[in-house]
Amino acid sequence: MSTPAVQTGRPPSVKMLINGQFVESKSREWHDVVNPATQEVLAQVPFATPEEVEAAVAAAKTAYKTWRNTPIAARARVMLKLQALVREHMSRIAETLSAEQGKTLADAEGDVFRGLEVVEHACSVGSLQLGEFAENVAGGVDTYSLRQPIGVCVGISPFNFPAMIPLWMFPMAVVCGNTFVLKPSEQDPLTPMLLAELAQAAGLPPGVLNIVHGGKQSVEALCSHPDVAAVSFVGSTAVGTHVHDLASRHGKRVQCMMGAKNHAVVMPDASKEQTLNALVGATFGAAGQRCMAISVAVLVGEARAWIPDLVAKARTLKVNAGCEKGADLGPLISKTARQRVLGLIEDGVREGARLELDGRDLKVGGYEKGNFVGPTIFSGVTPSMKIYTQEIFGPVMCIMSAASLDEAIALVNRNPFGNGTGIFTQSGAAARRFQNEIDVGQVGSNVPIPVPVPYFSFTGSRGSKLGDLGPYGKQVVQFYTQTKTVTARWFEDGATTAGVNTTISLK
Ligand code: NAD
Repeated sequence: MSTPAVQTGRPPSVKMLINGQFVESKSREWHDVVNPATQEVLAQVPFATPEEVEAAVAAAKTAYKTWRNTPIAARARVMLKLQALVREHMSRIAETLSAEQGKTLADAEGDVFRGLEVVEHACSVGSLQLGEFAENVAGGVDTYSLRQPIGVCVGISPFNFPAMIPLWMFPMAVVCGNTFVLKPSEQDPLTPMLLAELAQAAGLPPGVLNIVHGGKQSVEALCSHPDVAAVSFVGSTAVGTHVHDLASRHGKRVQCMMGAKNHAVVMPDASKEQTLNALVGATFGAAGQRCMAISVAVLVGEARAWIPDLVAKARTLKVNAGCEKGADLGPLISKTARQRVLGLIEDGVREGARLELDGRDLKVGGYEKGNFVGPTIFSGVTPSMKIYTQEIFGPVMCIMSAASLDEAIALVNRNPFGNGTGIFTQSGAAARRFQNEIDVGQVGSNVPIPVPVPYFSFTGSRGSKLGDLGPYGKQVVQFYTQTKTVTARWFEDGATTAGVNTTISLK
């Protein structure tokens, strides 16, 4: 793999991928890609010009003509090669990811690995894209369905999983015979570009995968482009809602995975040590910048007495630059994100929540300019507080309490988000009732971050999702294909028919 070319006196520029070529943008608008622990400018990313967005879609449209008819096995072989290359370059991708995103090296490898699993699953497209066949639906008539690709598909990805989420998107889209334009987050575009290099090296023909950079303007141009068939978006609720409305209005198929507020319900019979470890890991890992992070712990009955143990455990976490050995969590992505999280903590204090652990004044030796916030815990949180109504997306745990499982379920179901939730208990009956009555798309029983493996689909629900079908798994094969149903009759040479049939029935 090559690194971006270094130009004297300037940070390297991030290239775009258009029609198989890594090209320099002609844009006048460039943004810094910054290491969140050091503020070092790692590269500069262009906001693509309208002509560049147009060129990417045009390349995808042209490539689609031949790629859609490329044999399934040939498409699968590219994915087999890609999974081998991602595996081979895992450490290098993780280092780049950690440097531009801030997460620890171990967590960065996890980010790549969860994406790699989707590439592995894409290799079985032969069975995933099978149609159906029914013989003799009427005399001499057969009906069968085909799963055909839909055309040029677009992916818009967020900053928090710069490997996993692009890998949720383009491998499944292209292996189904579509072509793709990815618009990665402008905050950490280096990792998606490494993946794009690998995809090219794996044998994707020119134009099958294209990458343009940018923000609102590029996204809006893609979502309203007449040659785009489908848009897959992952990011915040505000932007996702806008993308969904715009793309739907322009006749696209759309799926938007959006913000979250994930509750963990802790029953008093839960295995205490396991549960506390799970809560602390899932709340503060990746500095809370996971859409499936636990952000609310609902302590039921006597579990309310566990707050001091939770605080003690959270205090043991080591906050440091992601590249440092022993770091449990790194910095937030940007100064803006840090200011936002600090502001919400301030709101929590002002609104009367009890600050059990305060991570605001944390200083990390050697990384004094980093965007760090230490683990922060509030207890006594109520549903009207801003720290509860808003997604904080930082290392902040809100503790609430409930007198019973019923009360806890009602609380979770009143929250508008539906991405993930979990119950911690040793009672199978309680867990079963929880999974049945909870109105959230992904549920864990003693599993804090229940992100499904790729044989299933990511199934966030309610306020966390717009569109019917989720990323990866069987649902995404439906998303990226159109079912065509064929009804066919073939006549024997010389056969005669009974006459004209003016009814709608097949005989
Ligand atoms: P974001 O919404 O700011 O950005 C997402 C993408 O949209 C980026 O590519 C960005 O460049 C683009 N964008 C930004 N502003 C835009 C605008 N005004 N118009 C059009 N496009 C715009 O999200 P983020 O901060 O990068 O990511 C964090 C958010 O993503 C959190 O809310 C998190 O919960 C959510 N998320 C959800 C899931 C999920 O599966 N539900 C997964 C990961 C992240």
